[in-house]
Amino acid sequence: MRPLVLNPLFASLTSLPGVGPKLETLYAKLLDRETPRVIDLLLHLPSGVIDRRARPKLNEVQPGQVVTVSVQVEEHRPPPRHRPRAPYRILVSDDTGTLMLTYFSARPDYLEKLLPVGETRYVSGTAEFYDGMLQMVHPDRVVDEKGFASLPLVEPVYPLTEGLGLGLVRRAMDGALGKLPPLPEWQDEAWVSRERLPPFADALRALHRPHEPSDILPESLAWTRLAYDELLAGQLALALVRAHMRRQAGRGTSSEGHMRAKVLKALPYALTHSQQQALDDITTDLAKPQRMLRLLQGDVGSGKTVVALTAAAAVIEAGRQAAFMAPTEILARQHLKTIAPLAEAAGIRVAILTGRERGPARKEILDRLVLGDIDLLVGTHALFQDDVVFHDLALAVVDEQHRFGVHQRLALTQKGDAVDVLVLTATPIPRTLVLTYFGDMDISELREKPAGRQPIDTRTIPLDRLQDVEDAIGRAIAEGKRAYWVCPLVEESEKSDLAAAQQRYDELRQKFGDKVDLVHGQMKGADKDAAMARFASGQSQLLIATTVIEVGVDVPEATIMVIEHAERFGLAQIHQLRGRVGRGTGKSTCLLLYRAPLGETAKARLAILRDSEDGFRIAEEDLRLRGEGDVLGTRQSGSPGFTVARLEMHGKYLGAVRDDAALVLSRDPQLQTERGEALRHLLYLFGKDEAIKLIRAG
Ligand code: ADP
Ligand code: MG
Repeated sequence: MRPLVLNPLFASLTSLPGVGPKLETLYAKLLDRETPRVIDLLLHLPSGVIDRRARPKLNEVQPGQVVTVSVQVEEHRPPPRHRPRAPYRILVSDDTGTLMLTYFSARPDYLEKLLPVGETRYVSGTAEFYDGMLQMVHPDRVVDEKGFASLPLVEPVYPLTEGLGLGLVRRAMDGALGKLPPLPEWQDEAWVSRERLPPFADALRALHRPHEPSDILPESLAWTRLAYDELLAGQLALALVRAHMRRQAGRGTSSEGHMRAKVLKALPYALTHSQQQALDDITTDLAKPQRMLRLLQGDVGSGKTVVALTAAAAVIEAGRQAAFMAPTEILARQHLKTIAPLAEAAGIRVAILTGRERGPARKEILDRLVLGDIDLLVGTHALFQDDVVFHDLALAVVDEQHRFGVHQRLALTQKGDAVDVLVLTATPIPRTLVLTYFGDMDISELREKPAGRQPIDTRTIPLDRLQDVEDAIGRAIAEGKRAYWVCPLVEESEKSDLAAAQQRYDELRQKFGDKVDLVHGQMKGADKDAAMARFASGQSQLLIATTVIEVGVDVPEATIMVIEHAERFGLAQIHQLRGRVGRGTGKSTCLLLYRAPLGETAKARLAILRDSEDGFRIAEEDLRLRGEGDVLGTRQSGSPGFTVARLEMHGKYLGAVRDDAALVLSRDPQLQTERGEALRHLLYLFGKDEAIKLIRAG
């Protein structure tokens, strides 16, 4: 149960003075939570400050900066009668210059009281040059001498949402700070004092009531403290999940390897050294009586599927079953296509289960599955459904893991007795992120590409030259080449992506005729397959697509990848897309079309892609340039995973945090010591209390 002292922090925001149901809806939006609680507000940290310590003269004011000036009110200029919607302007001055205060749809009587002509007032806000003069639109604060004396000299500024102004948020924040109960210290006391980190509650107070602008920087001691707390909560939760999985004793599955040998014999190529190594790691794990939790990490095209299949062969040879789960239907079908001939050669019985298998067909699969007449079931999320029951599931292979949540991963492993888990990820995840997202999973890496791969010639081209690009594609098609054309993310919705793709398709189809085809996420499964099949067979040669082709699609004959508005994609995402070409023997090209002009960061990002094909390097750079959410492509879906911690800044603590979590649990697996009890508070505060249940579940 949640420690009682935390109750005030878990009360809804309406428990704060001045927050009613109407504001609550706005906070729900701001804090991205249906019923925001006091703790959610407290963890909404400032994005800047208003610094009133320096009070520049008007001729010293830098446009664009938040300033506080002491001025004399000169003149009110209400909107002319025939234009009541024009702004209300008030001219103020000091002995060095003048400033125009501008208000839109303000009440005149209010402004006359606020800024009486002839009086001195302190005005804060952002000044800009407009129409050749210094202006300030809707000053943040206007106070008299007495009011100024009572204002904090440094005041925080928060990310806001429409309808929720700074004043309201500050007031609510004051109320929230007042609710902070005395909390036990959950960090190692010696460490905290050595690092001079403040206690949790003090850190919050320091951030929300700064004395210096530097107090609210992510590298400040206060922010670092909270980030460390958040990281520890995350690592502790992962460690608890892992301990829970480990406690459910594993089952050793050993095989002599003749089925695996058959699969390998059916391959038209030899495994690379690192594929062989990964396979050895996995078969060793499988044979052990502990559960396997292994991440197979390999850049696009490094050949993870074959490794997974050969691993499955080991458990199947022992008479048990394997599941292979992909994030999309296209991918599931493609895996099936790759796997089916190899499986047949080895005598493995394979079936597929996605949202498309329905009625009698689905029932037949389920019946065979529970009888053990299917050895390997390939599929999508459909594998999670309750009525999917295995005879004896031994191995779950999960492709592109980060698209699935932790609870989904658990759901699949609960379909068998001590299921071993192999996670495949093609997004080369920097080490720091592996730690955060997967905890201390064992890792196998495929560092080399299969032999015979050619480098991809990557070029960046401004969209002004679209015509030339289209002409070049036309020539390529005439020569019998095959190309993907990926359309931009217009907004964060599939619908608008689709409109852009549809439009490009219509245009190119007119130009190049029926060699052009279209595939997108809203198409019916069968239509998608048909489009992919036409492209794979060469019947169509130019495939217009939304990002549905992002992961895993494998057509070795495709040698050209065009990405429109490349500047709108994440680096890792483009790298994935680019990995769709360069898979065969033909020389491949990737054209990154961008809308000019590009900002510095955007330029740097595209340059990395142009200059490197090393997915690990690209991912690290992406992390550095943009922050963690984008690397995993999770920012859009709203689950960057962290509220406070910034991995580009605080990621360096992850190793220490992980060791700390491991140490704590080795000494106190039930979190029952004094520090253990304190850590329970931490888990609740950062929403990791699910993990606490696992302690009891044993
Ligand atoms: P990814 O790691 O991106 O999932 P895949 O498993 O889809 O890569 O493999 C990409 C392509 O490389 C497939 O066509 C596969 O048949 C081929 N491949 C895999 N391993 C090798 C190898 N050792 N030698 C040559 N080709 C290979
Ligand atoms: Mg793959």
